[in-house]
Amino acid sequence: MKPPIALFGGTFDPIHYGHLFSIKALMAELAITEARLLPCHKPPHRQGPLVSSQQRLAMALLAVKDMPGVIVDDRELARDSLSYTIETLIDVRNELGPNQPLCWVMGLDAFAKLDSWHRWQELLDYAHLLVMARPGAEWPKAGPVADFFQRHGTDDRQIIAAEPAGSILALNLTPFPISATAIRKQLLRGERPRQWVPETVLNFIDQFQLYRQ
Ligand code: ATP
Repeated sequence: MKPPIALFGGTFDPIHYGHLFSIKALMAELAITEARLLPCHKPPHRQGPLVSSQQRLAMALLAVKDMPGVIVDDRELARDSLSYTIETLIDVRNELGPNQPLCWVMGLDAFAKLDSWHRWQELLDYAHLLVMARPGAEWPKAGPVADFFQRHGTDDRQIIAAEPAGSILALNLTPFPISATAIRKQLLRGERPRQWVPETVLNFIDQFQLYRQ
């Protein structure tokens, strides 16, 4: 079996250290050497992002420049339809073959609403799910997502390298109390949130006057 690849989707509007530190910590924790950030082109579950897909992609590329093993995968921008994760996973699976372990990474806020995702129960046919704690998000105690975790959740970290897909692993990484929503508010107020956003990304935001009005 090949080493697992982590796939981290998001609107990245803008990308921030909550994303970047989380992926770094997850890679260290699970000995994952390749991670891909996948900017979402047309999010099915939320209002359109404030800035264009190309600009969000550009910011993601700037952010991962000095992160060994982390690349940006722009395949969702090539599809004009809504960016359903299941379609992305099928695409990656077709490209990398049936034996490549794949891990779809998400914060607990996203996992708690998983049953609203298109064909959500099929996600595990194509990847494992890695769920990271997030301040303010609660682990579901009852309902379809709790049942799903009951059936497929595991503590066995070896499984993500031993099987190509099929398990859900909850990770207790240090939570980062950061959201793109809070950062957009700061930028709108004219602030420059250096502690939350890489300088290269802030320079890009300045250059194109993003999120300022
Ligand atoms: P917004 O505030 O606009 O909703 P966001 O900060 O949640 O944005 P997204 O790009 O929507 O960022 O998130 C992409 C993925 O990253 C999601 O799975 C989300 O749960 C996860 N994520 C974002 N911020 C954090 C964080 N601080 N800690 C852990 N996971 C995070």
